[in-house]
Amino acid sequence: MSSDLVIVYHRQPYEEVEVDGKIEYVANKSPNGIVPTLKSFFGKVDNAAWVAWKEAEDPSDPGFERVIEIEDPFGKYTVSRLPLTAEQVRSFYHITSKEAFWPILHGFKEKYNYDPVDWPTFKEVNWAFAEAAAAEAAQGASVWVHDYNLWLVPGYLRQMRPDLRISFYHHTPFPSADMFNVLPWRGEIIESLLAADVVGFHIPRYASNFVSCVRSLVDVGNVPRIKVEDDMMSEGSALSDRTVPTEIHMEDHVVQLGVTPVGVDVEYIKGLAASDETDALAARFREEIGDSRVLLSVGRTDYTKGGADQLLAFERLLERRPELRGVVRLLHVSVPANRNMTVYEPIQKELEEIAGRINGRFGSFTFQPVALISRAIPFEELVAWYQVADVAWITPLADGMNLVCKEYVAARKDGDGVLVLSEFAGAAVELGAAVLTNPFSTRAMDFAIDLALDMPEEERRARMALLTAAVAKRDTRHWAEDQLTLLSPQDFGNGDPAEAA
Ligand code: UDP
Repeated sequence: MSSDLVIVYHRQPYEEVEVDGKIEYVANKSPNGIVPTLKSFFGKVDNAAWVAWKEAEDPSDPGFERVIEIEDPFGKYTVSRLPLTAEQVRSFYHITSKEAFWPILHGFKEKYNYDPVDWPTFKEVNWAFAEAAAAEAAQGASVWVHDYNLWLVPGYLRQMRPDLRISFYHHTPFPSADMFNVLPWRGEIIESLLAADVVGFHIPRYASNFVSCVRSLVDVGNVPRIKVEDDMMSEGSALSDRTVPTEIHMEDHVVQLGVTPVGVDVEYIKGLAASDETDALAARFREEIGDSRVLLSVGRTDYTKGGADQLLAFERLLERRPELRGVVRLLHVSVPANRNMTVYEPIQKELEEIAGRINGRFGSFTFQPVALISRAIPFEELVAWYQVADVAWITPLADGMNLVCKEYVAARKDGDGVLVLSEFAGAAVELGAAVLTNPFSTRAMDFAIDLALDMPEEERRARMALLTAAVAKRDTRHWAEDQLTLLSPQDFGNGDPAEAA
């Protein structure tokens, strides 16, 4: 019990690799850029801890040390590994979180699956996370809890340790009461979140939606609102709001609503983009592609990402504009989820079916219009593809933020390229200079891709310059500083956390 800052995140801050019979801890390769950003906070405090789960057959005798000390370029920190059985992980994460919460968070009522949810297990696991965090936190420490699979942790932690400052950040969208209240556990979840000192979201709309959920359950009186900054509003786009709620007054404390979009590590991406290795890779890709024009789409295989709708739009493009046949290619990277999640199998099948049909209809022995890549591409390679792609075509049906679109912009050292972005990605409120589109409308999708492919160079560059400025303004450093300030009114809230990395 000695850490001033405790981060509670389901994933471990490294991957364990066995080298010559010994376990070594290496940086996470998983397609998720949030871990290094979180780790960058560790440079700001003397004693920091990270709480995550680790699978164990028998949690009472896990066969590994529960608490270990790590030292890496981010600093020295403690990692508390909460032993959970495979069944507990399946239940709290793969079932309750992914089959019940995930669809509701993203507005897909029809995908919501209540039957397999084992609520007592969800509570038990969240309680165990809270206990592990409480065990690491020093008196008056700040505890930062991440994402919906740990929704009940703030409430439990408050019961265990009233002295702590607790912040909870949502990496997903947050829906309004009409959608959220499908969850029968809504009362418990909201009550837990209201026990925190700070509840964080990517964009103003999600904070407003949260207030609507709170209001449906508790009378919290007047909720003050302030004007949203002009560059967090893409005029007329679906997720843009003009004002944002700032705090909720409870009887005994105030819950601050912290709105900061997660960004990308612009300096890191620029560095990668400028490297000789990336140049060589990009040159190789260009040679392989020849004269083709490349549309690039990157995402996970998830119904929220709208992969099938996009492939259908590509099929229509080749139908509508025969002159593009043999000219335009789509590189559609769709990374399948963890194999425990059978819910994603039909989506994979659907993508394969549509991609196969397009290639069958419009391909030849030497030219395939769609390359469907169903595995993760290493980030370094992705950055080379970002440089080669004429258009980044990112059209999720719902997406808390979407980092791929920001990475594309950060990687365009040539200042060219077009970003077509769904207005239902959180990033759309910052990236009004993209070609924003509505993936629920075939006409809007067709219009946007035509606009992107036909855009004159001058306009492409003008838009890209605006996008570059927007992505640079709210990068990981901005997110970290903003959230760190909210997290702690104490002694470590005003430095530059990114410097530690
Ligand atoms: N990513 C990757 N290789 C891939 C596909 C994705 O490294 O083949 C990374 C991508 O660069 C980005 C992250 O995975 O950093 C996806 O983040 P995003 O916010 O776009 O989507 P999420 O998966 O979190 O919904």
